[in-house]
Amino acid sequence: MQKNISVLGSTGSIGTQTLEVCEEQNIKIRAISANKNIDLLEKQVRKFKPDFVAVFEENFAKILKRNINDTYTKVVVGMEGLCEISTLPKIDAVLTAVSGIVGLEPTLAAIEAKKTIALANKETLVAGGELVMSRALKSGVQILPVDSEHSAIFQCLAGKDNSQFLKKLILTASGGPFFGKTKSELKNVTVQNALNHPSWSMGAKITIDSATMMNKGFEIIEACHLFGLPEYKIDVLIHRESIIHSMIEYIDGSVMAQMGTPTMKTPIQYALTYPERLSSENEKLNLAKIKNLSFFEPDNKTFEAMDICRNAIKIGGTAPLVVNAANEVAVSLFLSGKIKFLEIIELVKSALKNFKSQKVSSLNQIMNADKSVREFIKSLV
Ligand code: NDP
Ligand code: MG
Repeated sequence: MQKNISVLGSTGSIGTQTLEVCEEQNIKIRAISANKNIDLLEKQVRKFKPDFVAVFEENFAKILKRNINDTYTKVVVGMEGLCEISTLPKIDAVLTAVSGIVGLEPTLAAIEAKKTIALANKETLVAGGELVMSRALKSGVQILPVDSEHSAIFQCLAGKDNSQFLKKLILTASGGPFFGKTKSELKNVTVQNALNHPSWSMGAKITIDSATMMNKGFEIIEACHLFGLPEYKIDVLIHRESIIHSMIEYIDGSVMAQMGTPTMKTPIQYALTYPERLSSENEKLNLAKIKNLSFFEPDNKTFEAMDICRNAIKIGGTAPLVVNAANEVAVSLFLSGKIKFLEIIELVKSALKNFKSQKVSSLNQIMNADKSVREFIKSLV
């Protein structure tokens, strides 16, 4: 039977690759969305003929509505629009590829409507992991990872609950553009330096998160929630070639790895076709050609983000969301040239110091806490 999905963030790096996978695998796209890139949205509307298109920014929604009034696609707006396209009766699954905490509310709405979640938007799990996982469990909804490391672990586990035999998960990390650098060498790096990722082409926010290694910290938190493990059972290993996407180690010493060429289309496709596998045109792995794979311990002293995230998930409650909110604002301040690279982490540390963790009980509470942290960071700069 043909699958029907909605794509949140269809104009982004993951979103556009998702549309390519859907085209190749004959998955019907019922709805797409973006913040304000209405030129690309219009092209996507004309090509994929979705029932709905959600635009977050109201003014851009108005323009798009005028521009596509010769089509049958309905324009919906803002958070309400994102939630509407996440709960459509015709869809089986929602692929969430927006960037940032904006993905949390529509994800919760989709869970409530019993839609399978294909999750790329890791900030949703960092900020609202406890709430999302408990609601998903209650509704019997599956959260299928799109993030390549978590897809790798999910594939290694092969649907089995082997938790009593698991020793640890090993998340691989490319190390980003600043691998091997010292703190003093990072003092004056530019936005352009930080955006120059060695192995992945991604949206700006996650590329900066990869340069600070906050991305790997977030992935530790994401793994804790997805696989129900404490942070000390999750190791990080630098692997420059991005061929092994992650590994699991059993108590008897056996290690399983998932490998493949570094393309996000593989984990996107697996999340959309799970539990089946369909053949794809993606470049296949040729280990004889690659010859060598290299591995290094992460440098937690220079890249403090991983320990900051470990600490936050250990504290629990609102601590991870404080890290997420502070980081979102700090990254955008760095991208607009208002702060230096190393200040990103300093701002996150200030936020953690300033906000005492509280138990998480509702979306409202999360969004209010998120807002306070954002205001706090802006007041510091
Ligand atoms: P991009 O910046 O390339 O794309 C983000 C998408 O979200 C765009 O479609 C953007 O619209 C949309 N968007 C942003 N803000 C809003 C908003 N307020 N309301 C509605 N839509 C919004 O990001 P990526 O594709 O790189 O990443 C998306 C998510 O996937 C992130 O959470 C990232 O951490 C995760 N991820 C990404 C990977 C990658 O390889 N790129 C790998 C693993 C995880 P517009 O175009 O209008 O700005
Ligand atoms: Mg990843």
